[in-house]
Amino acid sequence: MTLNINNHPCFNDSSRHNFGRIHLPVAPKCNIQCNYCNRKFDCMNENRPGVTSKVLSPRQALYYLQHAMDIAPNISVVGIAGPGDPFANPDETMQTLRLVREHYPDMLLCVATNGLDLMPWIDELAELQVSHVTITINAIDPDIGAEIYAWVRHKKKMYRDIEAAKLLIGNQLEALKRLKEVGVTAKVNTIILPGINDRHVVDVARKVSELGADILNCLPYYQTTETVFENIPEPSPVLIADIQKATAEFLPQMKHCARCRADAAGIIGEHNTEEMMQKLTEAANMPKNPEEHRPYIAVSSMEGALINQHLGEADRFLVYGLDPETGTSRLVDSRPAPLPGGGQQRWEALARALHDCRTLLVNGAGDSPTKVLNAHGIDVLVMEGIIEEAVEGIFTGKDLKHLMRSSQIHACGTGCTGTGGGCG
Ligand code: SF4
Ligand code: SF4
Repeated sequence: MTLNINNHPCFNDSSRHNFGRIHLPVAPKCNIQCNYCNRKFDCMNENRPGVTSKVLSPRQALYYLQHAMDIAPNISVVGIAGPGDPFANPDETMQTLRLVREHYPDMLLCVATNGLDLMPWIDELAELQVSHVTITINAIDPDIGAEIYAWVRHKKKMYRDIEAAKLLIGNQLEALKRLKEVGVTAKVNTIILPGINDRHVVDVARKVSELGADILNCLPYYQTTETVFENIPEPSPVLIADIQKATAEFLPQMKHCARCRADAAGIIGEHNTEEMMQKLTEAANMPKNPEEHRPYIAVSSMEGALINQHLGEADRFLVYGLDPETGTSRLVDSRPAPLPGGGQQRWEALARALHDCRTLLVNGAGDSPTKVLNAHGIDVLVMEGIIEEAVEGIFTGKDLKHLMRSSQIHACGTGCTGTGGGCG
């Protein structure tokens, strides 16, 4: 594969005024906890905190991209950069990249990751001609890394302190080496954390340059409330300039990164247009596969007013639509739940019974039924509250975080600085 960075606005300073990029927010979960990150916001390793994104399924993302290309035909790069980590959500990330490659053979593809779980996917990334990958490497010394990362979750096991840092750094460097072996352009992001790694960035630059990294992006740490590092001051422009000068001995520098949001679309540095944001909301409100006709939302409720029943306890599901004239929810059906027992087949039967529903609202749900229903195109939202508010909110794209149960909030990357239990 030949490197083609000419039309990538992030990697080629001269093209950033002519070509745009779009981030597809398909990756909500994260597999590590950086001490500067509060996951109420997007992944800080690539994105500016403070702006929460919608999360799309891969096919919703394709739908959004198709419309975004009509609005901004100069988009030359599709990137996946969160709002969590792309490879903590490998199925969604890879499916999205495959879909985009299939529909846009000439599109540049780009991924930004913490690198922990990147390695197993590198060969397929190269096959898909993903030309640019960014890994955020904040330290190569595990002692310094142990100050930066609270925990790392890898292959269902939790690691903390020095063990976590060793594992993460080892995986990052191994993945970087492999990226270069298969010819992918590799950017390294390093977040400058005063008093933590600011004197160590030269070591990082030297090491990643030895492994073949193409460019270094020294990003100033962004002070974020409710994090371990919330009292650390942001680095001064002078410190950043000094570090860029010192590390330029080893690697070219990226200096125009705009810390774009995980759903950024268009020219770097320009705000998303209202039209683009409407398309994003529209895509997020569609069925997981927008080509399917799913006009309804199903609800598990004991008495028919509140979402207050666990999926496994429901003996019937209420099915709601939206009245096009009044814009209010209306009950259209009540469907019996498949009988308990039968394992996976019970949930397959439920998926068939709810074949025209895009979403199921429940008060609790196990992993296994959730996976089966998701695989059949039904989003399972764990919520509590008034049915009408939730149903109408979903149909119209309102923010319903206040109704979400905490397990769901973590899964979509909001409201938690991480407990180590893993999200979703
Ligand atoms: Fe990104 Fe995860 Fe680190 Fe947050 S904890 S900055 S989501 S890699
Ligand atoms: Fe480019 Fe930086 Fe924006 Fe990523 S965050 S799209 S590297 S400018």
